[in-house]
Amino acid sequence: MDFIDLKSQYLASRELINARIQAVLDHGQYIMGPEVAELERRLEAWTGARHCITVSSGTEALVIALMALGIQPGDEVITTPFSFIATAEAVLLVGARPVFVDVEAVTGNIDARLIAERVTPRTRAILPVSLYGQPADMDSINALAERHGLAVIEDAAQSFGAAYRGRNSCHLSTIGCTSFFPSKPLGCYGDGGALFTDDKALARAMREIRVHGQSRRYVHTRLGVGGRMDTLQCAIVLAKLERFEWELEQRRRAAADYDALLRHQLPALAVRPDRSSAYAQYTVLVDEGERERIRAELDAAGIPTAVHYPLPIHQQPAYAHLAPGESYPVAEALSRTVLSLPMGPFLDRAGVEQVVQALLQACGPGRAMAQAAPGSSADAGPGAAAHPCAAPAILASSS
Ligand SMILES: *Cc1c(COP(=O)(O)O)cnc(C)c1O
Repeated sequence: MDFIDLKSQYLASRELINARIQAVLDHGQYIMGPEVAELERRLEAWTGARHCITVSSGTEALVIALMALGIQPGDEVITTPFSFIATAEAVLLVGARPVFVDVEAVTGNIDARLIAERVTPRTRAILPVSLYGQPADMDSINALAERHGLAVIEDAAQSFGAAYRGRNSCHLSTIGCTSFFPSKPLGCYGDGGALFTDDKALARAMREIRVHGQSRRYVHTRLGVGGRMDTLQCAIVLAKLERFEWELEQRRRAAADYDALLRHQLPALAVRPDRSSAYAQYTVLVDEGERERIRAELDAAGIPTAVHYPLPIHQQPAYAHLAPGESYPVAEALSRTVLSLPMGPFLDRAGVEQVVQALLQACGPGRAMAQAAPGSSADAGPGAAAHPCAAPAILASSS
């Protein structure tokens, strides 16, 4: 079993992908070829955003978004400590300071209720992450940002395809940033990413920054980067878009299977009823101190797992000086207990059953899958924490 089965995905779209790659080789416009604009128009239509600008990675998308907003040394950007490092890294790369806010135990996303108390006169933007594929509470975040005159950048690297109250991820705030890293919900075969906005001036700035701040050939109007996405990678995303709706459905079906089989057995991070997840990850909570043993047992059973993320950003060696003495207890607890299970459009019901059986076995001998009660993925209630492997303390702190 693969953690994310990219091989089956390629085989299912092989003709389309190969033809798209061949077309680029035939026309030879490897940089800013026609597939770049074609993909941008397709992604605008998909998300509903007025402007899409493809870039060389999700990390570069974040950097370019911050640069386009004019965020600079002395500025503060409020974000989550429970994310991939790139979120805070981008803030530091433009010379600004990430200010952390703890996350909700139920979703792992930034706790919107705690943001206001961290706003200062230096705050310029809020940078929530749509963790594991699910957007944060964007209406509350946008409303708070509007009151304080702040921009909101959605780090949607894991959530292309998700929705929040009828709007698509990447089109939920001032700027949305996504990644086409191969294992993300919509991946290419290398590095790639995209920026989304409805703001014409910001779109123009981001388009210029992507190409060395160039407004016309060899006229550099502003500071920029070398941040273009290759034509070949755009062609691959175009091919993969053909099956993307189907893939999202399959990911959601696999998640619903997990939900049903794990209910009353093991707590999992939940998707709130007013939004949907792109299910970059399906993540359960296991007992503190048991995770490495459980992972080893699953590994021996041929089931790969992952931990996103074992150390929160404010405790990373290169970042700890940013938050001296600060503690974010929910992020810290999650980092010790989260375990991501195999996920993807090609994970069938039998595969989910195999994972769950091995997982429950590893968590508590004698627990059989037959004890799992059926349930639905629609509500936000993860499995009640009756299982010895459960981590009820974290869930209880969520209210
Ligand atoms: C993957 C990821 C990124 C970075 O994307 P790259 O394309 O790998 O640069 C940023 N933020 C989050 C939350 C991610 O998961």
